[in-house]
Amino acid sequence: MKVIVVGAGVVGVTTAWYLARAGVEVVVIERQPQVALETSFANAGQISPGYSAPWAAPGIPLKALKWLFQRHAPLSLRLDGTLWQWQWMGAMLMNCTQARYIENKSRMLRLATYSRDCLQSLRDELGLQYEQRAGGTLQVFRTQQQLDAAARDAGILERFGVACEILDSAGCAIAEPALSSVRHKLTGGLRLPGDETGDCYLFTTQLADAAVKLGVEFRFNESIRGIHRQADTLRVETDHALYVAEHVVVAAGSYSRQLLHELGIALPVYPVKGYSLTLPIRQAESAPVSTVMDETYKVAITRFDQRIRIGGMAELAGFDLSLRPARRKTLEMVLADLFPQAADLSQGTFWAGLRPMTPNGPPLIGATSIPDLWVNTGHGTLGWTMACGSGRKLADMMLPSRLCDSN
Ligand SMILES: Cc1cc2nc3c(=O)[nH]c(=O)nc-3n(C[C@H](O)[C@H](O)[C@H](O)COP(=O)(O)OP(=O)(O)OC[C@H]3O[C@@H](n4cnc5c(N)ncnc54)[C@H](O)[C@@H]3O)c2cc1C
Repeated sequence: MKVIVVGAGVVGVTTAWYLARAGVEVVVIERQPQVALETSFANAGQISPGYSAPWAAPGIPLKALKWLFQRHAPLSLRLDGTLWQWQWMGAMLMNCTQARYIENKSRMLRLATYSRDCLQSLRDELGLQYEQRAGGTLQVFRTQQQLDAAARDAGILERFGVACEILDSAGCAIAEPALSSVRHKLTGGLRLPGDETGDCYLFTTQLADAAVKLGVEFRFNESIRGIHRQADTLRVETDHALYVAEHVVVAAGSYSRQLLHELGIALPVYPVKGYSLTLPIRQAESAPVSTVMDETYKVAITRFDQRIRIGGMAELAGFDLSLRPARRKTLEMVLADLFPQAADLSQGTFWAGLRPMTPNGPPLIGATSIPDLWVNTGHGTLGWTMACGSGRKLADMMLPSRLCDSN
């Protein structure tokens, strides 16, 4: 059996690895010269089952309206001239009811928890080193309202067996000692001790190396022009060659919708732009020990070995990848407010990526209406968290008679 995987982000590479480990011949086609150079390159580094929740939540429509007029808002909107942008926003609003929020959150939680377990097995099996830490996430709140909402969310987490703890500001400073000097700014926090952190780019490059050892062939610098079904095979046409396979998996992140459009498949995936800033640590004791998530600005600050990364914000602005200085200022402001001595802001590397986002939250993993054409995309804000579980889940679906293995 021969499978072509389109896209070598973290989702495409994990899919390729699980398929190859089950004995399948896999070719990965990627337009970039290496793996993980698009959205999987510099994300915020959280592997966070505990923070797995859809953006479409009760109260979001009102909050979103307010954010549109704020300087350091977590969300901004620039019309991209397509009807699709309006349709996607409409579909997201329809998912902001309590019932849909709980249903979507439950699905995301199950996948994210499974995925973290798959990641841990992979790490042990292959000895991967991606500056990982298992220090959990601390979500910090600046208002009583946020703290009350977290207490309600904690109920759902507990129902799904996700360990969590509501902390007062003193407790936040114990979990993250560098917050001691600013604890007066916080009303409290939600600690998620089962969460992990790590550099998604390092992980993906190492897993790709392991995949090559299993026989996976990577075809870089090739851009897919079209996918067609002919007789019993699928044909993938790139700007260099024509490939034939029995199965094709589209894992092209935010670009998956465009690729499948010609085939009459309308994936509900919109590119939601986010930014990150990566800085060398100046004083280790003044930096976070793991991830601190500032709920007010929806900005995450994550510790790697000698670096910290601040990531967040959601811009609905089409496929624009320009780096907007105002967004950098927001990331710098949050870091300076919570960890003023941690890093030298002049040393930062600023980056933007497009999250492939579904309007309800959970990703799209499985078969399409075209026989033997599969998708693994739409992971939005949580693609690093959910990648291993999604890759394995799809491989299991494609190979029902020989489930990948029992590990
Ligand atoms: C600022 C920011 C912070 C984030 N923080 C986190 C976090 O802390 N935790 C978390 O879990 N997630 C986080 N995410 C989300 C996560 O990074 C994404 O969900 C994930 O990287 C998506 O992976 P992917 O493989 O689907 O897409 P990508 O990494 O974009 O991979 C898709 C690949 O397909 C290729 N491709 C596309 N079109 C074609 C074509 N026509 N021909 C050939 N190749 C093609 C692209 O070149 C690309 O390499 C964050 C995202 C952003 C932007």
